[in-house]
Amino acid sequence: MNILVINCGSSSLKYQLINMENEDAVAKGLVERIGIEGSVLTHKANDDKFVLEVPMKDHKDAIKHVLDAIVDPNHGVLKSMEEITAVGHRVVHAGEKYANSVVINDDVMKALKDCIKLAPLHNPPNIIGIEACRDLMPSTPMVAVFDTAFHQTLPKEAYMYALPYELYKDFGIRKYGFHGTSHKFVSEQAAVMLGKDAKDTKIITCHLGNGASICAVKGGKSIDTSMGFTPLAGIAMGTRCGDVDPAIMTFLITDCGMKVEEVNNLINKKSGVLGLSGLSSDFRDLENAAADGNERAQLALDVYYYRVNQTIGAYAAILNGADAIVFTAGLGENSASCREAICERLSYMGVHIDKERNNGPRGQAMEISAADSKVKVFVIPTNEELVIARDTRELVSK
Ligand code: ADP
Repeated sequence: MNILVINCGSSSLKYQLINMENEDAVAKGLVERIGIEGSVLTHKANDDKFVLEVPMKDHKDAIKHVLDAIVDPNHGVLKSMEEITAVGHRVVHAGEKYANSVVINDDVMKALKDCIKLAPLHNPPNIIGIEACRDLMPSTPMVAVFDTAFHQTLPKEAYMYALPYELYKDFGIRKYGFHGTSHKFVSEQAAVMLGKDAKDTKIITCHLGNGASICAVKGGKSIDTSMGFTPLAGIAMGTRCGDVDPAIMTFLITDCGMKVEEVNNLINKKSGVLGLSGLSSDFRDLENAAADGNERAQLALDVYYYRVNQTIGAYAAILNGADAIVFTAGLGENSASCREAICERLSYMGVHIDKERNNGPRGQAMEISAADSKVKVFVIPTNEELVIARDTRELVSK
């Protein structure tokens, strides 16, 4: 069984074709600059890389080129599109409607459209991607897998904001949480590495990429997470500010003369470690600059690590202790210095990492805690595409 996984952004699209017999990605790729000049498709299969630069006016055009690449006689991996059993789509926001993945039908499409107001930047391109696939592959079943679904188990006291209750009832203003497929995947794998049934575990998962969030997982279920009503909340990120005093937003408008759109742009695109350092949102640049004595780069890293530490502490408190802490995503998987800086300040809860293990090979799941550590520390490469493919297989096999 081959499953095509699609992750559609506003002007880009990532895809993977996964062979479910061995769960290998047999082809993967990226389309960039959809609808703007310079559209480009980069397709990789086996050791072959194929780059196509042709105008792609919309997502349907882009997906058509992806399907052509998959069945291309030279670079393709399938003989025909009929060999694609189903398509799994990453969808960011499902509000309170879905706590699990679903087979897409007209009712689901309506629900996704109803959620546009909750994720105005993310849901529209996700919907366009699904519609384009439904047009091009009308008889292939499609499944939607939601970033928010894993967090639908949050208790009320975790997801309610201390705002007038009517705002929740009338506008759905509450914490939803994101990166759910990643937190689910790495927490399940951590339970296996602990040698325990997931229902007997307490795990803190740190998804530290460009976007970043932390999750408290108890008995296999998310009970709190750092992102909120939108993916802007929580710890500092590459360019997003994370939690700040909400009064700063009104101050920027009333006292600093900024317009609402400018504030929105500032907190999403110009803040985080980029805003603090004035240098870069990429942690590799910051680590190098800090090593060369750049104080603002060091400040950005210090603020970032501090926030991660604070949140791990908060989640250890609500979990009443933890069996394991997991690091994943770009920074969490690759930066030994980041993991060391964060774990150094967790000795109060019995966390000790083994420096040699922490500097071990990249790209594979590994334990980095020392033998005497009360809490295990794992690095686990996330694989959101595989979670989407597995859910898709399960739903279409029913
Ligand atoms: P997203 O999917 O949210 O765009 P990723 O999970 O791919 O992000 O993470 C990207 C980030 O990971 C980069 O911005 C970079 O800062 C960080 N990163 C990747 N590799 C390394 C590395 N070797 N050392 C430090 N940071 C890294």
